[in-house]
Amino acid sequence: MRILIVEDEKILAGQLAEQLRLSGFVTDLCHDGNEAGFLGETEPYDAIILDLGLPGRDGLSVLKEWRSKGMDTPVLVLTARGQLHEKIEGLNAGADDYLVKPFAFDELMARVRALLRRAQPNLPQVYRFADLELDTGT
Ligand code: CA
Repeated sequence: MRILIVEDEKILAGQLAEQLRLSGFVTDLCHDGNEAGFLGETEPYDAIILDLGLPGRDGLSVLKEWRSKGMDTPVLVLTARGQLHEKIEGLNAGADDYLVKPFAFDELMARVRALLRRAQPNLPQVYRFADLELDTGT
């Protein structure tokens, strides 16, 4: 599972990448709206975590463009914009989920897994090979 993290606060971006890596995900980091737009269109991610306040280009505009081009990768918006109208705007722009900062990493991880489950409903949570077992939920 490969996840793109779009976040211009580099310390937070690094923490997100570390948390996801510990859960077995491969992550790409991006700190800029223009680069995010390009990566989201050209790379095969399983999910994208998208900040909205970004240098170069606003995340909401990036998301709208992805959706207008038919890009259907699950997107979780992670932003400080927590007002009701902002959440509605984000979901209407094509976000699959919306989480407001500050947030708990555990909740973010649970939401990312929920997105991936919905995107690939037949994916098993537990993989077994010989005497090895990998539970993607834990
Ligand atoms: Ca930001």
